[in-house]
Amino acid sequence: MIVLSGVNKWFGELHVLRDINLSIGRGEVVVVIGPSGSGKSTLCRAINRLEPISQGEIVFDGVRLPEEGRPLARLRSEVGMVFQSFNLFAHKTVLENVMLGPVKVRKEKPAVVRERAMGLLERVGIAKQADKYPAQMSGGQQQRAAIARALAMQPKAMLFDEPTSALDPEMVGEVLDVMTTLAGEGMTMVVVTHEMGFARHAANRVVFMADGQLVEEASPAEFFANPRSDRAKDFLSKIL
Ligand code: ATP
Ligand code: MG
Repeated sequence: MIVLSGVNKWFGELHVLRDINLSIGRGEVVVVIGPSGSGKSTLCRAINRLEPISQGEIVFDGVRLPEEGRPLARLRSEVGMVFQSFNLFAHKTVLENVMLGPVKVRKEKPAVVRERAMGLLERVGIAKQADKYPAQMSGGQQQRAAIARALAMQPKAMLFDEPTSALDPEMVGEVLDVMTTLAGEGMTMVVVTHEMGFARHAANRVVFMADGQLVEEASPAEFFANPRSDRAKDFLSKIL
């Protein structure tokens, strides 16, 4: 579904992605962990082309992008992204936020989109909040709205970059529950998170990054029981 080959990225002198090779199958859930500054966010941003790469290639669903004449907007609508900060439009209601992409970008019929959007709000458990503005909701509800908004574009894959790290502890569970359900339904997911419970239960694979390198990849059971590299051992000893 997503294949990265020999991906390198420099920010000026700083080599932030070093020869990354990673293949993510359809329906696979890959959790990316690693110390701050190791390149996890840059990796996510590279996958949906928010950040151009310096070298290598990324193939998404069989297509090397950006392809001549094929707009980036198309790829971005195929890859949903959820960030640490919820990024909802403050002056629009939750329902309007969820409907915006399909209606404005995809020019879908509002009536059709409304029905799908309400279904998604139902799925993430905030249908009752449909007419509220983001500021009137809790962080957990806002993040679930952000997930619904990404899903409204009917993406082929979802990227999550530390989706729960800005939340109060009591709201982390409700967001992880939505993500776990999505994983169980077969969504292809790349999740940057330090929620090791989620990694253990929902991930097919854990990828450990350090200094821009993909240091280790393994099943969660294998990785947590027996990390191979010193960097991973050191990292795990600090967070577990
Ligand atoms: P964190 O866990 O803190 O979110 P991360 O693993 O997501 O860290 P990145 O945000 O991908 O790390 O950053 C990797 C490196 O690239 C860091 O050294 C960071 O300072 C640098 N970096 C990120 N974005 C830019 C940018 N736009 N310009 C220059 N350097 C950048
Ligand atoms: Mg980051």
